[in-house]
Amino acid sequence: MTQTSHDLFQAAQQCIPGGVNSPVRAFRGVGGDPVFMDHAEGAYFWDVEGKRYIDYVGSWGPMILGHNHPEVRAAVHAQVDKGLGFGAPTAIEVDMAEMVCSLVPGLESVRMTSSGTEAVMTAIRLARGYTGRDKIIKFEGNYHGHSDSLLVKAGSGALTLGQPSSAGIPREVSQDTLVLPYNDLSAVEAMMHQYGFDIATIIVEPVAGNMGCVPPEPGFLEGLRALCDQYECVLIFDEVMTGFRLALGGAQSLYGVRPDLTTFGKIIGGGLPVGAVGGPRDIMEYLAPNGPVYQAGTLSGNPVAMAAGLQTLRLLTAPGFHEQLARQTQKLCAGLAERAEAAGIPMQINQVPAMFGWFFSDEPVRSFDAVMRADSQRYAQFFHGLLARGVYLAPSAYEAGFVSAAHGDAEIAATLDAAEQVLAELKE
Ligand code: PLP
Repeated sequence: MTQTSHDLFQAAQQCIPGGVNSPVRAFRGVGGDPVFMDHAEGAYFWDVEGKRYIDYVGSWGPMILGHNHPEVRAAVHAQVDKGLGFGAPTAIEVDMAEMVCSLVPGLESVRMTSSGTEAVMTAIRLARGYTGRDKIIKFEGNYHGHSDSLLVKAGSGALTLGQPSSAGIPREVSQDTLVLPYNDLSAVEAMMHQYGFDIATIIVEPVAGNMGCVPPEPGFLEGLRALCDQYECVLIFDEVMTGFRLALGGAQSLYGVRPDLTTFGKIIGGGLPVGAVGGPRDIMEYLAPNGPVYQAGTLSGNPVAMAAGLQTLRLLTAPGFHEQLARQTQKLCAGLAERAEAAGIPMQINQVPAMFGWFFSDEPVRSFDAVMRADSQRYAQFFHGLLARGVYLAPSAYEAGFVSAAHGDAEIAATLDAAEQVLAELKE
């Protein structure tokens, strides 16, 4: 007998907190029961009841090639045949590190972790160890994983639940985290003038992707770079989401601003659990075993995960890959903008090559406050209208959307047809 998503969710809630292993999956931001997925291929996934969806979440970013890409699957199978993991160094870790350093200018050395959270946690510890300072600056609505010092005014699932700061974080930990408005360089300047030489690091999502998708204002990233130079602190770009997506070299190559440390996740694991932190050798050498900053992981550099990630990265180097992805995203976003205008529904469509953020708002969305003023109820209605028609957007108004290389013209046209119908309903 076919299991239904509803039955599975009932069962899940008995044995998993909230029925899910990561909060945003519970659909609290849009209401209703989450859909349980069964399998996926290309631009599509199918739920346990056999319904097909065009997917714009892509496992929250990793599936840039589309789901279950045959060459990634083959690389994983080949590695599985050799063993699932050894807890000892392997050649494929060297291949991966060389690949990442060759793709991202300024990266000389890279350490693998098993998640983006760990990568960022390591970067923060490294920045503190390197500078000998404690305070860090982060931005409102930026999400850097769920480690203690960063779960303060965070975006993503935390924001969806209306709990941007978590319980359970000691005051002593969070008091060293200074939170400023994203895209407000003068606020950063003022803070740096006061505390500059106590600041270990400024960490930023170079394109904010955890409060929808909000690009940096011209000069914002450049200004952060200059301030970090002036006060000799470490600039961290959290490219867990943007890395390898916006360009092979990530947001830093797109905007031409070089951070000191970069964190990765998502695409670097090709769908398996991987994160990484990288930077110039002089900073990276502070990590154990060479340096005093401790960091480790039983499964770090796991060969099966490396195989998926490395094959994914190799396929991204095909000439014109990112340009094509950006073109498809542009078709989708421009098509939606036209349909929203025709329906008389005010929408703001932010697109940064292959990421997008759609807001029901009549003002440009360039800040956290503007994100908060957008109509999240209307987003929930839009989400459910599309879901019913077989299009799966992020189940929260505060997440970015992703197009993959498998999203062809047919998928985009079908999405826009569905969107047109839903917008007509919203107008009524
Ligand atoms: N940093 C950014 C920018 C992210 O988007 C995320 C996850 O969405 C993380 C860090 C945390 O990564 P993970 O969920 O792999 O721990």
